[in-house]
Amino acid sequence: MAETVTFLALLLAVLAGGGAGWLLARRGKAIEVAPGVGPHLLPEPALDWLRRSHSALGVWIAELDPQEDGPRAERIVDSDRLSSGQIIAVDRRLEVARDFEQSGAERLEAGTLVFHAASGVAAALLLPDSVNARRLLLVENDLRRLLDGVRRRPQLIELAQATTQEASLESAGSVGLRLAYQLERTLDGHVVVVAFENAMDIAGEGEEPVPRVRVIGVSGRGDRRLLDTVLPVESSELARVAIGELESCVMEGDPLGSVVADRRQRPGAVLLAPIKAGDRPVGAIALWPPGGRQPVGAPRAELMESLANAGPRIATALAADRLKIQTTVDPLTGLCNRRGLDSVLNRREVRKGALIYADLDRFKLLNDALGHPAGDAALLHFAKIISEQIRAGDIGARVGGEEFAVWLPGTGLELGAKIAERIRIKLGTTPWDWRGRNWPLSASFGVAAMPETSTTVAELPAQADAALYVAKRSGRNRVERAGGQAARSGLGRLSP
Ligand code: GH3
Ligand code: MG
Ligand code: MG
Repeated sequence: MAETVTFLALLLAVLAGGGAGWLLARRGKAIEVAPGVGPHLLPEPALDWLRRSHSALGVWIAELDPQEDGPRAERIVDSDRLSSGQIIAVDRRLEVARDFEQSGAERLEAGTLVFHAASGVAAALLLPDSVNARRLLLVENDLRRLLDGVRRRPQLIELAQATTQEASLESAGSVGLRLAYQLERTLDGHVVVVAFENAMDIAGEGEEPVPRVRVIGVSGRGDRRLLDTVLPVESSELARVAIGELESCVMEGDPLGSVVADRRQRPGAVLLAPIKAGDRPVGAIALWPPGGRQPVGAPRAELMESLANAGPRIATALAADRLKIQTTVDPLTGLCNRRGLDSVLNRREVRKGALIYADLDRFKLLNDALGHPAGDAALLHFAKIISEQIRAGDIGARVGGEEFAVWLPGTGLELGAKIAERIRIKLGTTPWDWRGRNWPLSASFGVAAMPETSTTVAELPAQADAALYVAKRSGRNRVERAGGQAARSGLGRLSP
């Protein structure tokens, strides 16, 4: 464990210091290696095992990623036995080997470097002493295998993405849509599928979950605008079948309830049937068969089988949807929570954007004077202002008690600071009162942006937070940029 920590520490030290500096000078870009994030999808232990199995001083991979237009490197070295100068010497040699696709062994100051390069990727092991021909062959073989793994990385990523896509496709909406289309094909009728959600996510704190019936599938001939519509339980027969209040039945008229305008609905008999997971009602379908003739015999059996099949899948999908909402959404404000924000920031394609951190000023005073419910109401008020001041595609988040964040993808530092300023002014000029008593609200803001203040997303939160701290210390109710006073007072961890 201590050893691993040392490796990481050295890796970071090398990146922050000479290694990254050199690459910056030569390439104009820093290498991207975050601790725990193997850009090669080769788990760090694999590299370390390789190093240990050859009693090597270090193992290296350097590649040009065709999608990333910049060099990537990863190394695990024995920090006790190598100086950073020696490490950088290997970095340089390996870059050359990669660029000229060289393989072989070479004596360096720190030891013997055995390296192998192909297709823009180079791997190397640094051995403490000289090697004989047999040992060289063994090491070269292992390096070749390592490179094979690295080269297969794009396929591995594709595979992983396809798998997650498959898993996330199975949302209630996709199950509903597939069911609607399948029934339309087999029964030749227009179909609407609804799900019964115990909408805990829309119930306020302390409130009972309200039963909610939502359209999750409409067949090809249906009115797609119905999708996601919530049916009125009081006036919709279909909703009542979905929550288990009504049995399967055939009716005339509109089963969706008067509030919903289904523009393509045709007159005629419609069959309503529940969808169940075991005994539990999870939804229902409405089927308008051609000529109003209800399915009998084989088609009816097929219908029942499809519904029985869909039930457990809808139940699972609803639970997954709910869990996803619970784990990524802040129940008080409806904004993302920290986890939700993190998952947005950690997306692979993130390359440019501004991160604003905001913290309400003297919020404890408000809580103490007006009480906790007032505090919560003020938090909601601020959340609403944030939501109104940002565009679709931007992400507002509540990341702590009275701390908020806004992620503005594709936005630079200056614009990010302007938007923070806009939110600050809006908060200061929108009156907020609690039970007739007016209370002034203000907040302090810190802004960091990639690439202006950091080359990696991982550093943005700490930078925005440091800038926010400066804003607090300089009197509150203001916006500070990362790399301003934060750099001078040594508060922010700034990128090289
Ligand atoms: P500063 O200007 O330095 O930020 O002062 P402050 O009083 O806002 O900061 P501090 O961090 O000392 O206090 C934050 C307070 O926010 C503590 C707590 O009373 C309140 N708070 C945190 N989370 C919640 C919440 O979810 N609801 C309510 N009502 N209050 C909260
Ligand atoms: Mg605070
Ligand atoms: Mg505060």
